[in-house]
Amino acid sequence: MGEFELIERFFTRPARHAALGVGDDCALLMPSAGMQMAISTDMLVESRHFLQGADPRLLGHKALAVNLSDLAACGARPLAFTLALALPRADEDWLAAFSAGLFALADRHQCDLIGGDTTAGPLAICITVFGEVPAGRALLRSGARAGDDVYVSGTLGDARLALDALTGRRALGSAALATARARLEQPTPRVALGLALRGVASAAIDVSDGLVGDLGHILAASGVGACIDTSVAIDLLAICEDSAFAAATIDAQIRLDCVLAGGDDYELAFCAAPTARAAVGAAAAQAGTRVTRIGRIEAAPGLRLVDGQGRAVAAPRLRPFDHFAR
Ligand code: ADP
Ligand code: MG
Repeated sequence: MGEFELIERFFTRPARHAALGVGDDCALLMPSAGMQMAISTDMLVESRHFLQGADPRLLGHKALAVNLSDLAACGARPLAFTLALALPRADEDWLAAFSAGLFALADRHQCDLIGGDTTAGPLAICITVFGEVPAGRALLRSGARAGDDVYVSGTLGDARLALDALTGRRALGSAALATARARLEQPTPRVALGLALRGVASAAIDVSDGLVGDLGHILAASGVGACIDTSVAIDLLAICEDSAFAAATIDAQIRLDCVLAGGDDYELAFCAAPTARAAVGAAAAQAGTRVTRIGRIEAAPGLRLVDGQGRAVAAPRLRPFDHFAR
């Protein structure tokens, strides 16, 4: 199977949103009147972002999910994406599973694959997504104001627990591992929530590198600080909701570390004025996604972690992920 047969068989489908899809030198997108285009790129590299031998169907899902998560954080509606693939070999079974996982998620969001590049090389997957948002209404990192509430969607920390279990650094019961592993391997991009939060949230970001680090980006961009209640945050793990899971079997400090700094969560962290609490609740209900209020924006810069009584709590021992940190 040559390069062009590979593209034709596994990656060519009719485009719905694009004026021109796969097959020419460029794809053509037609922005709607009054809309801004939201564009984001994310790359997944074997052994860096996923373990060697990872299930290709899950990989196809995740490669697109992490990109859709960026659109969600901006409140943008997905339209289309491009796919740049480096493959060690043209393995038909791998390609069939990868494209099935990829297109299943793409179809759920009516997001068209409109082009890409395919080359031999060490396994790497790079996707660029294109979305649209009414001009001036994108959710940005820079809009948080002192007094705003701080929220997160869904659950946090399970992906890190699963990674640590899969790499032998931590033991996890089989039911808890199954739940945590689904969060690591099949994250759900919060696209519907991002759309529903337009005009409600003052600032938003998707949590990919850990809550503390990513919330820090909102604080820096907005020129504010925040106080987070760790007594609420500690129960945000999905496995804590499992009836089979006894929270006591995992040390509280480890649970908190994973929630605050685990990474790979792909939830939204966002801020909204206290007057918008009902609107936040309505947005969450409309999107079918749980949101939890975990703290408050303050004028003084920096992030403060407190317990249920307002006493200071030590920073998580896990540091935000940084590819070039030493
Ligand atoms: P060019 O040489 O002009 O860059 P290519 O020969 O690399 O074009 O690709 C041919 C067509 O196939 C282009 O339309 C390109 O966007 C598309 N394409 C290549 N790889 C992929 C892929 N992995 N997924 C989707 N479309 C692809
Ligand atoms: Mg090319």
